[in-house]
Amino acid sequence: MNDVNQTPAGFADERVEIEGISVSTRHLIGNERVGSSATFESRSPIDWNWKLADVAAGDAETADLAVSSAVEGFAAWSAFSPAERAAVLRRLADLIDEHNDDIALIETLDMGFRHQSMRERLVARGAVNFRTYADLVEGWEQEEWDAKNTHHIVQRMPAGPAVVITPWNAPFMLSTWKVAPALAAGNSVILKPAEWSPLSASLLADLVVEAGFPPGTFNIVQGIGEEVGAALVSDPRVRRLSFTGSPATARHIGRAAAENIVPFTAELGGKGALVVFADADLEAAAAKAAEQYEDSGQVCLAGSRIMVDQAIAEEFLAAFQRHTEAHVMGDPRDDTTSIAPVAHADHLENIAAFVDRARTAGDRIVWGGQRVDGSMHYEPTLIEPASNDSEIVQNEVFGPVLTFQTFASEDEAVELANSTKYGLSSIVYTTDRERAKRVGQQIRAGIVWANTFLVRDLTAPFGGCGISGIGREGGQYALEFHSDLQTLVIAD
Ligand code: NAD
Repeated sequence: MNDVNQTPAGFADERVEIEGISVSTRHLIGNERVGSSATFESRSPIDWNWKLADVAAGDAETADLAVSSAVEGFAAWSAFSPAERAAVLRRLADLIDEHNDDIALIETLDMGFRHQSMRERLVARGAVNFRTYADLVEGWEQEEWDAKNTHHIVQRMPAGPAVVITPWNAPFMLSTWKVAPALAAGNSVILKPAEWSPLSASLLADLVVEAGFPPGTFNIVQGIGEEVGAALVSDPRVRRLSFTGSPATARHIGRAAAENIVPFTAELGGKGALVVFADADLEAAAAKAAEQYEDSGQVCLAGSRIMVDQAIAEEFLAAFQRHTEAHVMGDPRDDTTSIAPVAHADHLENIAAFVDRARTAGDRIVWGGQRVDGSMHYEPTLIEPASNDSEIVQNEVFGPVLTFQTFASEDEAVELANSTKYGLSSIVYTTDRERAKRVGQQIRAGIVWANTFLVRDLTAPFGGCGISGIGREGGQYALEFHSDLQTLVIAD
């Protein structure tokens, strides 16, 4: 991750103007902007020489201040009724909609995803996340029943301050998805965004103050994971840890959770299969395979292992290549660009190193396999592995690098789909609804799509099997996680 630059003294500038948008470079703690003596750089993948801001790099002291603030915030916020909390969440959702353009542009500049997709999909979804949890918490009914000459009441108590740690890809959508249930359940929150894409969270912080959360209810702390992130997750006053990121970081956070006996959810990486049966709508399946390149493959849910019935492999590959060649790599602010750049120079190195190792190991590069000169793009790449054990099949690249394998039977397709240690998501293409159900239910993944992708009712559970995660988010599942259940038994 980024190096921290020690500034000689004092704080980083409070606000910078980026393309006419005013962005604070500080934390939000207790509804106040707070600085740090150290900063880290935020650069744009549109042009890696373009420094957007020096952002406050929190430390152990910042973490301590934020947790103290969240303890105070919790006392105020947990006393709000569900309807009162829902009203504030809805105000925040409306403010996100009002500021959609600015948030979308800042996030595009900061991490490179296409502006159109940010505006129409990811930032809009941020508002939907808060509305969804406002509705859910208002509809949350207390369970009560009589049994054994007693009256039972199950109360859902807010758990306490929650720390939410998020990754750099689509950070606005992902953070709001995790923060909304914590706040709806009555917990105060400290959000620590990733240091590769910190800026949209800073715009969110402005809206938090405007929406009217009591001070300390929703705090945002910027900085390096191993420093301020580690300090936040280790504080025993924190009562919930909600993490999205890599399995390697989850192991560190899991150790802190174990030390303080704090419930912990982890949404981690994936290595999804995209399985195409001979009876599939071949054009639709080929278009979906090519779509996996759009955000330069920086999507945890991506179907990055393409698996095709050997009977249609040649025909499928031709259609897949045609759709891939129709892609346009360019500036993500331009609506004609269909492939976003890679978010960070270090990540571009990681992707190139993965492909170089595959080449050396004897895997066949079917297309792509090179950086694009003078840009932060890596060519959309397809690799036919020498074996299913190849690193390129077994490990998450998180880049525009897909693998291509064939199968001879339905059983073999399921076996291949289930042959990695991940289990986040998979995609199946078949026109046989019974097969979609049969195969879908045999794949060990938290979500399987048949003949579609990324569509999901937000009340459904979301999470991973294997090393793709612990616990489930979504709907009631996230509200339950953020609550302590109490059974009160009163004698008749
Ligand atoms: P990462 O694990 O490197 O970082 C994630 C966050 O953890 C960052 O905010 C970072 O600062 C913080 N962090 C790092 N070390 C820490 C520590 N010791 N203590 C506390 N916090 C720490 O992951 P990344 O590179 O930002 O994200 C990419 C990964 O996230 C990929 O594996 C991707 O698949 C996964 N991801 C999963 C989902 C999902 O929903 N399952 C969604 C998006 C991304």
